[in-house]
Amino acid sequence: MRIVKPDEGEVLDIELEEDFLKRNKELAEENRLFLDRHKVRAIDVMGSIGSGKTSLIQLLTSVLGEKFKIGVVAGDLTTSIDAGRLEQKSTQAVQINTGKECHLDASLVKRALQNLDLKEVDIIFIENVGNLICPAEFPLGAHQRLVVVSVTEGPWMVVKHPYIFAQADVVAINKIDLAEAMEVSPQKLIEDVAKINPDAKSIPVSCRQNKGIREVIEALGF
Ligand code: MG
Ligand code: ZN
Repeated sequence: MRIVKPDEGEVLDIELEEDFLKRNKELAEENRLFLDRHKVRAIDVMGSIGSGKTSLIQLLTSVLGEKFKIGVVAGDLTTSIDAGRLEQKSTQAVQINTGKECHLDASLVKRALQNLDLKEVDIIFIENVGNLICPAEFPLGAHQRLVVVSVTEGPWMVVKHPYIFAQADVVAINKIDLAEAMEVSPQKLIEDVAKINPDAKSIPVSCRQNKGIREVIEALGF
């Protein structure tokens, strides 16, 4: 089989991109300090469109909301559907509309944080734009990264996205209630994650059946 790969330096604008990523990293560090100063823990939630990020955050917020004050920041191109859904369970919700950008960056998150009353928040869930590729390159300053992947996305979602899984602290394998119908093995996805990132904790979840939620909370260390 013929495979085409770019040579070193062949990708257009690579220097520009490096500057840009460096600036993002600096801003992410500022966000982290800002969050720490306010004693707020932030979790960056990543996953494809339709993997169940919003549903999982809703369920996590229901349980954690008994003990903590929860804020949410939802990233989306143009809509505020997710922030609207999340607003019902959390104390504060901010929508970031990225326009054409397919990921959140530290600068957008910085602006979102300025729109939350952090004195009234203990935990922030940041729902990234639905995409498993470039969010991996843009740290936001969050303390942990939670990746959601569902069995309905097929058997190759983990192996095809090594960068995002390499950075995950916790991986929720969602929609396990549909695993048989999809003929996708949650156990195989868990093994794929372990090969890329032996430190990540993978948890089988069904948001629809409210299964695995407490295990995700425990894996996050609450
Ligand atoms: Mg969503
Ligand atoms: Zn992107």
